[in-house]
Amino acid sequence: MDFFVYNTMSGNKEKLIPVQEGKVGMYTCGPTVYNYAHIGNLRTYIFEDVLKKSLRYIGHNVKHVMNITDVGHLQSDADTGEDKMELGAQRENKTVWEIAKFYENAFLEDCDKLNIERPTVICRATEHIQDMIDLIKRLEEKGYTYISNGNVYYEIDKFEDYNELANLSIEELEAGSRVEVDEGKKNPLDFVLWFTNSKFKNQIMQWDSPWGRGFPGWHIECSAMSIKYLGETIDIHCGGVDHIPVHHTNEVAQSEGALGHKWVNYWMHGEFLVLDGGKMSKSKGDFLTLSKIEENEFSPLDYRYFCLQSRYRKQLVFSFEALRDAQNSYKKLKSKVSSIIDALQEEERLDENKINLYKSEFAEQISDDLNMANALTVLSKVIKDSQLTNREKYTLIADFDKVLSLELTKENSEKDMKVDENLISRLIKERNEARKNRNWVRADEIRDELQAMNIELIDSKLGTEWKIKK
Ligand code: AMP
Ligand code: ZN
Repeated sequence: MDFFVYNTMSGNKEKLIPVQEGKVGMYTCGPTVYNYAHIGNLRTYIFEDVLKKSLRYIGHNVKHVMNITDVGHLQSDADTGEDKMELGAQRENKTVWEIAKFYENAFLEDCDKLNIERPTVICRATEHIQDMIDLIKRLEEKGYTYISNGNVYYEIDKFEDYNELANLSIEELEAGSRVEVDEGKKNPLDFVLWFTNSKFKNQIMQWDSPWGRGFPGWHIECSAMSIKYLGETIDIHCGGVDHIPVHHTNEVAQSEGALGHKWVNYWMHGEFLVLDGGKMSKSKGDFLTLSKIEENEFSPLDYRYFCLQSRYRKQLVFSFEALRDAQNSYKKLKSKVSSIIDALQEEERLDENKINLYKSEFAEQISDDLNMANALTVLSKVIKDSQLTNREKYTLIADFDKVLSLELTKENSEKDMKVDENLISRLIKERNEARKNRNWVRADEIRDELQAMNIELIDSKLGTEWKIKK
């Protein structure tokens, strides 16, 4: 089946043609491990996870490479502001190495909870310094660099089409990146490849290089590591939209400058998760993490479901009310699947033709630039289809869940039960209301829903109580 993706570089939806048939090389920019990931960052990683699983669903073999930025990322994506890792170390009175290790683990734990599969290769910037030095040397040989005040800069005027990815004029790029005046730069958009002379005199992370002891600029790590693990042409490169005008623009300049040919065939960018009140930012200190979501009695998969409901290329506004709605829909979905599982019978029919028809309907939606909302509609159709046996439904649900990763066929664990006490009380209240209004259909629906969650209701004159079924 053809797979279509929206390519930022062309501004069009395009048919994906991998360099090697059946194999897709995919690079996604990873986290800067100086603090917890916020739920906006996690939205982007969910999008990339769904992309990878969708490609696999339609038969591609995917090699996924993701970096861990543990050095070199300054507060602004250009070369200004404080060093993020040093900032984390000062905040917590730890070494930068301890900070990197701690937040890398925290990030991976968040990913596990969200059923975000680990990439084929996870590469830390600090373990690839030589690769970066080699790439800078290649750029130097080709005349793309200059040294000023001890730092090695990339000279963007030497690279034709510097602004192609962002599709902005140089003036717009300058305005957008709010570059600090740096006397050492020939063009304000030039960027550092190697610092030997930064304003951070006590920088702990330093390495020897042909230009002196120092550390790499942020952008060079992605070029160096992606080329190392995926070769000279990458099929898909992803990240959040904020990366388009600076980080990815600079990655293209570095990689294509060094390689002398086109480097990435499809650029895919996830839009931002925004708060009711505006942008989510770590620098403001108080930002939403997955733990905060859990403290509010939502499960990580409630959040995954919330993200799946909307298109990755559209901004998504987060609020706890909206997450509550998603949680309710997800619970309902799970309880319907539970009822199907309960009703399963060994000897039920399993018609391959019917199954394949639904599979291709699902595949068609995910292949349409990840139309996950429509893919979820196909799932609902399957659940409602009275022409399907429970076994056929179960087979399809388990199959779609390879992409959705919502644990649809997994029975609720005792832990889930405890977390759901609030939901149970709410449903009982809603059922009582429905009964008061003689809405027997809704009342029965709620009883069934609770039953699917293994909850038994006991009605008496004193009210409704519940217990976990033995
Ligand atoms: P960082 O750790 O800051 O490099 O960001 C990790 C990933 O999250 C990058 O791909 C960013 O583009 C992306 N990102 C940052 N903020 C948001 C947001 N509010 N919503 C979605 N993605 C974001
Ligand atoms: Zn990157």
